[in-house]
Amino acid sequence: MHRTKVRVAEDVLDANATIARANRADFDQAGVRVVNLMSAPGAGKTALLERALAGGLSDELGEVRAGVLEGDVQGSLDAQRLAMLHVPVTQLNTAPGFGGECHLDANMVRSALSALPLGEIDLLVIENVGNLVCPAEFRVGEDARAMVCSVTEGEDKPLKYPLMFRTCDLVLINKIDLLPHLDFSLDALLGNLERIHPGVQHMLVSARTGEGVRAFADWLLARARERTSAGDLAPRQAARAAGTPA
Ligand code: MG
Ligand code: ZN
Repeated sequence: MHRTKVRVAEDVLDANATIARANRADFDQAGVRVVNLMSAPGAGKTALLERALAGGLSDELGEVRAGVLEGDVQGSLDAQRLAMLHVPVTQLNTAPGFGGECHLDANMVRSALSALPLGEIDLLVIENVGNLVCPAEFRVGEDARAMVCSVTEGEDKPLKYPLMFRTCDLVLINKIDLLPHLDFSLDALLGNLERIHPGVQHMLVSARTGEGVRAFADWLLARARERTSAGDLAPRQAARAAGTPA
């Protein structure tokens, strides 16, 4: 019985990986880089995105247009907040049709592909459902993974949810404006993080004060500028680099 259960879980993850590769191929084809943004509920994913995307993303090479795929069990409160910034937002709810799952999987993201304005954006940020457990197991077709860990959650989170911390390319430590009011050791958190994922990039940020948010925006920009696995620049960026209109 126990063996059967393990097999089923492996089959589910295999099937998910296949669909995630198909999503990735479609994103590559459209020249869109994808970031999977994860955290526990209330860590500040939406607030950080609001801050980072508020003024648009641009550098000396020009503007990167970002869109958001907003994953929630139900409702569209976060999507409405981001839409206020004139960022194209697509809502993906898991309650209708996906059993109210507490994570996004590759098939759910695939179901939203046709609703995404892939022709208009260079970067898609997928705000996953707030959860530190299963989102880490399911690739959705992303190029990079970022997670938000707030200082109100305690220093032990990397030890309790190692897969999430181990599979991320960036850890955003949010709500640092609250540090003077908390019995929280930043050194202990960073030590635990280093034990679980040695050398992983981290940033200290506050969505409330804006501290560190420019660094996050620059990281998003850099992800959007990355070449595909085939070595291509995104088509619109290649056109801009060549000085011709996209
Ligand atoms: Mg949110
Ligand atoms: Zn789940």
